[in-house]
Amino acid sequence: MTSDTADPTSATNTVARVLLAALCRHPRALVRLAAWSVLEVAPLLLSGYGVARALDDGFLAGRPGTGLAWLGALAVAVLAGALATRHVYRILAEIVEPFRDDLVDSVVGGALQRSTVLGGRPDSGAVARLTHQVEVVRDNFAGLLLLARSFVVSAAGAVVGMAALTGVVGLLVLPPLLAGLAFFLSSLRSMTTRQRDHVLTDEGVADSAGTVAHSLRDVVACGAEDRAYARVQRQVDAHAEAERTLARMAAVRTLSVAVGGWLPVVGLLVVAPWLLGSGSTLGTIAGALVYLTQGLLPALRALVDGLGSGGLRLVVTLDRLVEAGERPVPSSGTARRSAPHGYDLVLDGVTFSYGRHAEPVVNQVDLVIPEGQHLAMVGPSGAGKSTLAGLLAATHVPDCGEVRLGGVPVGDLDPQTLVGHRVLIPQEAYVFAGTVEENLRYLHPGATRAELDTAVDALGLRSMMTRLGGYDAVVDPGTLSAGERQLIAVARAHLTPAPVLILDEATCHLDPVAEERVERVLTGRGGTLIVVAHRISSALRAQRIVLMNGAEMVWGTHGELLATAPLYRDLVGQWDIGQENIASGRLAGRSWPEGPRGTLTSGTTGRY
Ligand code: ADP
Repeated sequence: MTSDTADPTSATNTVARVLLAALCRHPRALVRLAAWSVLEVAPLLLSGYGVARALDDGFLAGRPGTGLAWLGALAVAVLAGALATRHVYRILAEIVEPFRDDLVDSVVGGALQRSTVLGGRPDSGAVARLTHQVEVVRDNFAGLLLLARSFVVSAAGAVVGMAALTGVVGLLVLPPLLAGLAFFLSSLRSMTTRQRDHVLTDEGVADSAGTVAHSLRDVVACGAEDRAYARVQRQVDAHAEAERTLARMAAVRTLSVAVGGWLPVVGLLVVAPWLLGSGSTLGTIAGALVYLTQGLLPALRALVDGLGSGGLRLVVTLDRLVEAGERPVPSSGTARRSAPHGYDLVLDGVTFSYGRHAEPVVNQVDLVIPEGQHLAMVGPSGAGKSTLAGLLAATHVPDCGEVRLGGVPVGDLDPQTLVGHRVLIPQEAYVFAGTVEENLRYLHPGATRAELDTAVDALGLRSMMTRLGGYDAVVDPGTLSAGERQLIAVARAHLTPAPVLILDEATCHLDPVAEERVERVLTGRGGTLIVVAHRISSALRAQRIVLMNGAEMVWGTHGELLATAPLYRDLVGQWDIGQENIASGRLAGRSWPEGPRGTLTSGTTGRY
């Protein structure tokens, strides 16, 4: 994989490999392209010879008809060339368009995988790659193919034509041409670096502007407009500087063309008297000049300009796309094991924050959740309960420390195993447009009708099922209430054999009686049940309660927390009810309040 300081040579090699592979996929198209290319440059190949004959055999020999006939032959060659151009573009599309489609696949695939991999962040640069850079590569690849083949044919034609007209003098074209090319190619390495800076700063502008636009509300709310402006401005300045440096590199191109293209012309003019004296005609010298000024010079200029701008853009942009298309590797370097030993869940020194410079939401937490335990998480809104649930479910990757299931780091479990071992049910229950049965069986397609019936009756879905029209009825998710969607999501999880269920306020839209029934059924199925509790009644049913407040965390039974954690007492006290009611568990139906945030304990925190 390349990086921002990537070696230009390795970038060029990578790109050459990718382009060659793209070309090799279409061998027949390449043969047709070569054939039509020769026809396309036929006017050029004939031009010097035709002009020489038109002058020597025609106009200078007093036979204007012959002169005009040669010029007419050149005009016919131009028409044939135009016809060939039409075919060349068609063949070019056959090669370039599939290449573009492959790039789009690779960019989208890479971005999606990076964004959805455990702990991944949205890949905002992918939009710039998709909308801009893929088109840059497509256009420049096609342009470079056109230029390369016309340079080869034109340069070869010019050298051969010159040699045929002026004998060995024609070969004098080669040294300056090769010197000009060598000078240009030797500067390509540094040009590639500059071009890469240009692409990176371009992405930087898109990325920073996108981030600021996305967070505009927060930026304004925090009064951070100046900082946001400065951040975007820095990227714009860097991009402008890269643009200026690139413009300066144009001087190298001009010098290469002067040496490789104009020196042969000067050489021909200098030796013209000697050529005339040694038997060459005015027509041959004019024809040689045509080859140099109409064939070699424009072909060299086009190649140098094309390579120096479009070619470099192609190398750098394509290298970047290849890099962006690479799939992320699993977070752990170890081979993925697929068999946890038991289902104890362990957080070992786990720290997690939502950004490199953000305060940790979970800080240095050690927690053991034995297999089969019913655990509730409580705490004020924003305390980190969902984050902890995400860490336990392995949808979040810790910055430090480790989460283990059955002794195996969750990052080492292959995704299929992980899916089979734990189910996370979020607050926003996802019901898709399909039949009721498809929705219920989604996580466990092997569930039988009898198992569906048992789950539906136990969890209280029967009346909804009847109203919808049975298992085969198609569900319109928009017509279901939030509570009904949650019931379907809970039943879907219940039907799986997963030994660990994690409910992140997954029953918050159910009434207290329905919620109690759901938790009773889920506890009864065996396995570990972790509930981010929405109501105190939910916490009271758990064997252990984890109380969270930012990066602080304590745990114990309801009684232990009442005795030791002022915040827990405050949270419970929000319902304005007596201690007897709390102790006797008559708190059903009360939701957790917002805040207060304060001291968690009067004494112990510990490892359960
Ligand atoms: P809870 O579930 O207790 O309400 P969360 O775990 O959702 O708390 O959030 C804990 C903290 O992390 C909050 O300050 C919240 O703003 C922040 N947070 C949650 N999700 C994100 C996210 N995707 N990006 C940045 N910050 C987040």
